[in-house]
Amino acid sequence: MRWENLFGMVLVKNTNRIFKGIGASPGIVIGEARIADRSRVAIVEVTIDNAEIPAEIDRFKKSLLEAKEELKAIKEQISLAKGLEHLYVIDTHLLILEDSMLTNETVNFIASEKINAEAALKRTLKKFKEFFSGIEDEYLRERSEDVETVVERVLRNMVGKRHELLCEKDGRVIIVAHDLSPADILQIDKEKVIGFVTDLGGKTSHTAILSRSLEIPAVVGLEKITSEVSDGDSLIVDGRTGHVIISPDEETFREYLRNKQYYEYRERELLKLRDLPAETLDGYRIRLKGNVEFAEEIPSIKKHGGEGVGLYRTEMLFLNRMALPDEEEQFQAYSEASRQMAPYSITIRTLDVGGDKFVTDLNLDDELNPALGLRAIRLSLRQPDLFKTQLRAILRASAHGKVRLFFPMISGVAEIQKAKALLEEAKRELLDASIPFDEAIEVGIMIETPSAVIIADLLAREVDFFSVGTNDLIQYSLAIDRTNEHLSDLYEPLHPAVLRSLKMVADAAHAAGINVCICGEMASEPTYLPILLGLGYDELSMNAVSIPKVKKILRRCSRTEAVTLAAQVLKFSTAAEVESYLQSEITARYSDSID
Ligand code: PEP
Ligand code: MG
Repeated sequence: MRWENLFGMVLVKNTNRIFKGIGASPGIVIGEARIADRSRVAIVEVTIDNAEIPAEIDRFKKSLLEAKEELKAIKEQISLAKGLEHLYVIDTHLLILEDSMLTNETVNFIASEKINAEAALKRTLKKFKEFFSGIEDEYLRERSEDVETVVERVLRNMVGKRHELLCEKDGRVIIVAHDLSPADILQIDKEKVIGFVTDLGGKTSHTAILSRSLEIPAVVGLEKITSEVSDGDSLIVDGRTGHVIISPDEETFREYLRNKQYYEYRERELLKLRDLPAETLDGYRIRLKGNVEFAEEIPSIKKHGGEGVGLYRTEMLFLNRMALPDEEEQFQAYSEASRQMAPYSITIRTLDVGGDKFVTDLNLDDELNPALGLRAIRLSLRQPDLFKTQLRAILRASAHGKVRLFFPMISGVAEIQKAKALLEEAKRELLDASIPFDEAIEVGIMIETPSAVIIADLLAREVDFFSVGTNDLIQYSLAIDRTNEHLSDLYEPLHPAVLRSLKMVADAAHAAGINVCICGEMASEPTYLPILLGLGYDELSMNAVSIPKVKKILRRCSRTEAVTLAAQVLKFSTAAEVESYLQSEITARYSDSID
């Protein structure tokens, strides 16, 4: 049985095929599928004569140049349509094209193996991929997809198969592709393309990050969606849950249409809070800020009413590459972020690698217990040159906007003193070179270890602010690996040990007269807001879309009641008891404000 729906799509009953991937960017879209041909070009390896080698090398180099020209043209088009802030992705691809290893390896393969240019380039790609696959860090592993995308563009030029542009698609469609590059996402005209789904991809790929910052609903990592969907199929994409439904039946369609309308209504309502102050009913003001990995995410913080960046995770700048970023490159990145967030401040965290994050150029050893190993500030203190380069870049950025800096994973006073001594050296070097910086730059630390909680009073004397990293604090306090999905039920933010720690840290900060913030995921959970408010936190920093959700609850709370509530939850002995108390006191009371 067929019937027409409101969108004029033809839905076929009983063909409701449901797939589950990774929700990369929230939002629900309903529309027509349009397959984008991003299939790999088939390459045949052909042996060539000695005499043909120079011509093959020329052909390869010419295709490289063509690919560069294409990317530059896209860059121009994007900078006109979407502004400069998204161009880093294209620049990354241009850098890959200019990488001498890509050229030299391919030329070597052509000359030494006597094979055609396409096959030689494929072999270079294989080598790159083998290298990347040995890397544990998910983010860096996903960068190999950038290399693959770039190589595919060159191969297409060599075989004369043009790269179809997504901006050429018309109608309001959902793109279905094996994979999409960040450059593809940047070309999307949101009037024409309302969402996308791909076989490949993970939550931290550039493609996923960009789709979130451009607010294009997307599901990635569906594995075989391209072989299930045909051009013109009706699709529902739920970017929150990662569900994709092909040819939905009437009931499913109606259900999702309702969900979509409700979701969009809620989002619109939440955005109305943007310019309203983040204050309680009794006039108590706190600051709600955003967490970012890239400056590109800052427009979304502004749109959601965030008052600054509370956590800039700088490691992404280091993970995305083979060689480390130099001082100038870091300075550019930090000052760009600061420029975009003006007049509000940005809070830059020094490098937090090691543990489960791996940086190629640092040649870190494998460790038996990486989470307890040479990580974060420990690594920075062992590599003072690397650390000072970053400190100088941050200091230089502080001359161009409001910049604060803080150190991750501090476990004792001696670490802060060493870090501050290196900061003083960096300042002196800049003074000697007459390079300007903010001499009164605020310096803080992350509270993420039980030792830091226990000696919070001693640490508070050393710094201008605390920021609690609850993701790690829960992991280290409860001895539960935050990445182990088999233990996720034991990872309890409301565990009395965590709540007592949060109280100790806030009390120690206030006794010393310094600011205290939370930048771990707990800050983004609206139901926890009254507890954090009652404990006295001055700032909460979270992903941009959570800001209005937290603000909404905040504006309905009274600070006095929150203090009473926080005192009450501290009396319980288990997380379950706290949870059920919150359920009756918060969830039930503010049910219209909590999803
Ligand atoms: C945290 O640990 O809570 C935190 C914000 O840092 P990250 O998640 O980057 O470790
Ligand atoms: Mg942390």
